[in-house]
Amino acid sequence: MKLILFGPPGSGKGTQASLLAKKINVPHLSTGDILRLKLKDKDELANELSKIMSSGNLVPDSILNPIVTEKLLSSECKNGFILDGYPRNKSQSDFLIDFLQKNKIDLDLIIDFKADTETIKNRIIERSKIENRSDDNLDVIKTRLEKYYTETQPLAGIFRVEFKGKFFEINAMQDISKIESEIENRLKNA
Ligand code: AMP
Repeated sequence: MKLILFGPPGSGKGTQASLLAKKINVPHLSTGDILRLKLKDKDELANELSKIMSSGNLVPDSILNPIVTEKLLSSECKNGFILDGYPRNKSQSDFLIDFLQKNKIDLDLIIDFKADTETIKNRIIERSKIENRSDDNLDVIKTRLEKYYTETQPLAGIFRVEFKGKFFEINAMQDISKIESEIENRLKNA
């Protein structure tokens, strides 16, 4: 199974991606998690990433695109993957669509998580009490949401057309278990 999860920060796509990854036994590729792991290297790149990520801005495509393609071509992903947090802008989206075509990788489902701004802010504030993320605070959330609405959300229109019949929206304001079972149903029919 090859899936992409779209959605704003705090919409719960990371939670659903981990649940699903265990269930269908494919890797959960969260670009945010991959980048956070790189921060631990404490080298020049980590410094650059840390500045960008803690301000809520997007990391350059020149860093993201090779990370994602290397992962997608690795043996880890031979039976599928759940991509979470990528693509995030038009140039990543163009790059990914071209890469998938060239490598004959067929996606099974693209799920777009929908949640209103209030819900998102509340969830991120709740998460900040558990996880120690430098970007989970109200100031940075503002920038992250702005990036999402201007750069990421418009990609849904492109994916809906490009992957007709495989793209669906989910009400991400429902309970975790309800979202989980809706996704499961979609998977059965994918
Ligand atoms: P996330 O965990 O998905 O909320 O990502 C945390 C941060 O990592 C984002 O605010 C960005 O700074 C960076 N990031 C993650 N994925 C991407 C991406 N596809 N393109 C650019 N920056 C990204």
